[in-house]
Amino acid sequence: MAYSVPASSQSGYRGRFAPSPSGPLHNGSLIAAMASFLDARAHHGRWLLRIEDIDMPRVVPGADLAIMHQLRSMGMLWDEKPVWQSQRLPLYQAAFDQLTASGDTYGCACTRQELPSDGPYPGICRHGLPAGRQARAWRFRASQGVECFDDRWQGPQQQDVVKHAGDFIIKRADGLWAYQLVVVVDDGAQGITHIVRGADLLDSTARQRMLARHLGLDYPTVMHVPLLLDPEGRKLSKQNHAAAMDITRPLDTLNQAWQALGFEALVAQDVEAFWAAALERWANRYSQPQQTLGT
Ligand code: GLU
Repeated sequence: MAYSVPASSQSGYRGRFAPSPSGPLHNGSLIAAMASFLDARAHHGRWLLRIEDIDMPRVVPGADLAIMHQLRSMGMLWDEKPVWQSQRLPLYQAAFDQLTASGDTYGCACTRQELPSDGPYPGICRHGLPAGRQARAWRFRASQGVECFDDRWQGPQQQDVVKHAGDFIIKRADGLWAYQLVVVVDDGAQGITHIVRGADLLDSTARQRMLARHLGLDYPTVMHVPLLLDPEGRKLSKQNHAAAMDITRPLDTLNQAWQALGFEALVAQDVEAFWAAALERWANRYSQPQQTLGT
């Protein structure tokens, strides 16, 4: 039994949930799924599912289908055919070619061992490869200046890409497209207007805004929701072996995510009633008239 409000054709809102299929969803990933789902519904928009399987070595076979099953069991139905990044490689190549044609990329020979363990890329290959070296990865030539934007959850942000990341990788040494590039290309190609995702991606936002600008794409409005931490204060993640979310008790699982978003637990008889109540509360808090898309 799934709760789904007809997506109004009047609303220009297009949101998405973009899980990496490196395992099933856990309670932490459910928070991002829930917030993006509610926000799309509250704006009478569309909610898309994008399987981010670009990082092939980390993909677990069958995890995509498991994630879809989990979402369905929670009553979260997406509005359009899901897309898989692994099937969109020509799109990423085209974006890379466009950036390269405008001089925004360069080949980099540096190995991880040659670089400082943190801080921005020191620009070793920015003006050409050192003699006798070959390009392994490709970087985006970051532009100077502070990226200023409002995050609907975290408030006003100022991020300096040159200072924090420097020229960042868009094509990896193993030949795979980097997350920063593909996420921007996909959000643009899918006409995403609103990104709602976990706060661990807040500091990627400036890089993504910059890339979008260079590709001539509008960058969506962003909301970065809190992360669930384990007892040691680490982000719950598949790498830290977080347990898959419990779909046998959907109401408890949903209420747990809902409370992590700062709301009081809902008393609901079934999943449908849970979503109806949650939607009303979410809409009151996050879809005030000034935040809806004007037409
Ligand atoms: N695939 C990313 C993740 O699972 C999310 C990307 C995004 O929402 O921009 O962490």
